[in-house]
Amino acid sequence: MIEIEASRPYALAIHGGAGGPKTDGAAETLASYHAGLRAAHEAGEKVLADGGPALEAVIAAVQALEDDPIFNAGRGAVLSADGRAELDASVMTGDGRAGAVAVSRHARHPVDLARAVMERTPHLLLVDPPQSLLEEWGIEQAGQDWFVTEPRIAQLRRLQKANAHITHGTVGAVARAADGRLAAATSTGGMANKANGRVGDSPIIGAGTWARDGVVAVSCTGVGEAFMAGVVAHDVYARMAYGGLGLAAAAEATVARELRAVEAMGALIAVDADGRIVVAMNSDTMLAAWRDGDEVVTRI
Ligand code: ASP
Repeated sequence: MIEIEASRPYALAIHGGAGGPKTDGAAETLASYHAGLRAAHEAGEKVLADGGPALEAVIAAVQALEDDPIFNAGRGAVLSADGRAELDASVMTGDGRAGAVAVSRHARHPVDLARAVMERTPHLLLVDPPQSLLEEWGIEQAGQDWFVTEPRIAQLRRLQKANAHITHGTVGAVARAADGRLAAATSTGGMANKANGRVGDSPIIGAGTWARDGVVAVSCTGVGEAFMAGVVAHDVYARMAYGGLGLAAAAEATVARELRAVEAMGALIAVDADGRIVVAMNSDTMLAAWRDGDEVVTRI
């Protein structure tokens, strides 16, 4: 568990997923993960440094990660069994508003679509929204040729030969703005070689994403089924709000009870009302970035 005290009036942590590449991977690959995380953190932190809201910051960071093909979200996301990218995303603001999309196939940035569901509909979650809706809302579209990359096609072939599925990767961000408000966003391709139509935790409010002003904002990554069964993001909140635990103790207890105890791989990032950040994990790797004093730290 990593815990970082607030050093500015605002705070941002981002992640690029748990259970991904090992630190003994090729140097170029490791360097590109560090660079991608740094760029996304910079995009989100710029919003906060300019006095912008937490929601805009988490969206800017997640958009950058969705566009970077090395992360499992947006372009370069893992593929479903039939070779298509079916993407899940959600956003939540600390005032209790939330929006999510599952099995998204047309939005370049699924996180934009999640935000549109929150802001433009009376609903919270849409599954496979039609292109006509995206057009109506002015959401930037992209085709499967944008999302599907050669390394992911090769990965799918390998997995299908071995009759296997893997869960590693998802992107997310949590922020506390200078006004004290919190927000969280999460976006993913989910599990590689998943059954078409499978939905993970990332678009499920309370499982993969949660935010409540005055308490905490959380974004998760790992075996989605366990995060849904354990309602993990909300569990961290509940331990703080009802159990009176601090951020680090709550995150540690949630990982122990809802992940380690059921032998599920996963990790989460969270920021509390004071801008304190934790990265809690039950996995060998967790791609993440945050500010520690004058330095932005990226880790794998
Ligand atoms: N949690 C995501 C899912 O199950 C995948 C991941 O984070 O690796 O869809």
